[in-house]
Amino acid sequence: MPAKIARLVAAYPDHLAGIEGDTLVWTDGTRMTFGAAHPARSFDAMLRSASIADQLRQTYEPGPLRQPPAPDHSPGRIRNTAFFLKMYGNCRSGPPPLRDVTWMPRTAPQSLPVTTVNDVATRLERVIDALDGLPDRFRAYLVPSAGTYNCRAVADTGLPSMHASGAAIDIAVRASDYWIWARSRGGASAYRNRVPPEIVAAFEAEKFIWGGKWYHFDTMHFEYRPELFA
Ligand SMILES: [Zn+2]
Repeated sequence: MPAKIARLVAAYPDHLAGIEGDTLVWTDGTRMTFGAAHPARSFDAMLRSASIADQLRQTYEPGPLRQPPAPDHSPGRIRNTAFFLKMYGNCRSGPPPLRDVTWMPRTAPQSLPVTTVNDVATRLERVIDALDGLPDRFRAYLVPSAGTYNCRAVADTGLPSMHASGAAIDIAVRASDYWIWARSRGGASAYRNRVPPEIVAAFEAEKFIWGGKWYHFDTMHFEYRPELFA
């Protein structure tokens, strides 16, 4: 855990100053209990009320996905609500700082609002630059984007989505797979993905994690989570 804590502080230099004991200290002096001393709880318990330590427990592995994620292995899906509300703002009390980014300008231009916090908008533009240079056969997975900023909750937890921070993007719905859709077709949601690794690599290069690496898979979903990259 100490390496992951150091990585968290280093990942958000605009916001985090350091750690004092079990307290995360923000650059504006705000202090939050880290929760590292508590043992890991069940996945469902962590999903519904995660400490900051909980959100670092599962390890995200960049690079090609070698096998379907193990049961309840959904690195990045566990988030401490207070941490992200403080960092990106609470959309329920007013729109967060957003800037329009042009998705796929050379292919099928689409204007999408993205947070300026942590330079996420600029980082997404670098991802887009890489994606827009891919061969034509990748287009079907990318356009149109199913959206970025949206002041909404996660379907199964009721907690704020990273879309409510403007720090997430969904690529095209057409070629995507989602555990909740799979579940509603009956039975367990067997892992399925059609998104090519080249697309995932372009996002991971800018420290966006992919929902296709979650047991609760959401293969159109990417979100900026630099603390999960070594
Ligand atoms: Zn999404």
